[in-house]
Amino acid sequence: MKQYNIDNRERAKQWEKDNAAKRAAGKKQWRVDNADKCKEHDTQYRVDNAEKIKQYKIDNAEKIKQYRVDNAEGKKEYDKQYKIENREKRATDAKQYYIDNAEMMKEKKTQYQIDNPEKCKKIRVISGWKRIGIIGDLSFIYDNDYLPATNCWVCNKVFENSFDKCCDHDHSITDGDNVRQIVCRSCNSMDSWKNHSEWV
Ligand SMILES: [Zn+2]
Repeated sequence: MKQYNIDNRERAKQWEKDNAAKRAAGKKQWRVDNADKCKEHDTQYRVDNAEKIKQYKIDNAEKIKQYRVDNAEGKKEYDKQYKIENREKRATDAKQYYIDNAEMMKEKKTQYQIDNPEKCKKIRVISGWKRIGIIGDLSFIYDNDYLPATNCWVCNKVFENSFDKCCDHDHSITDGDNVRQIVCRSCNSMDSWKNHSEWV
């Protein structure tokens, strides 16, 4: 009887060894099939062991840091692959998140606009430029040419407001940088500045 148990144990051990790959695959598949259950379990585990996990992270900070460095490439590839494989799910989730948190998102957006008026104006102006076919390093042009300009580069008239301040571009160029100058609305309309050779 005793011998039988020993033999059996040996046999079981050997079986485990022989079937390690199969067992690993089975385990993986089980996790896929029971994704919700696993996720729930993992979440609960993290809640129940928050302190322990926190301590582990503190104790192994160096190790974790090194692991991240060693596996940076792999992680990047994994993230990329994950994004590709879950594109639809991510889009649906994001959409749903916006729906579920509509009020909060609206408030957040309003608050952002209040906190960042200049940034928002820049985005608005640049998207307007893009719409009418202006091409170039628009962020750079906005910061370095458009924003500091106080007078029309052609007639030198002081801009009345931002509506009066325009970015003139060469309409004939549609595949590369085409910004010419910052001009007032009247100089910009129908490229009328070209009629004033004494100004240019
Ligand atoms: Zn002008």
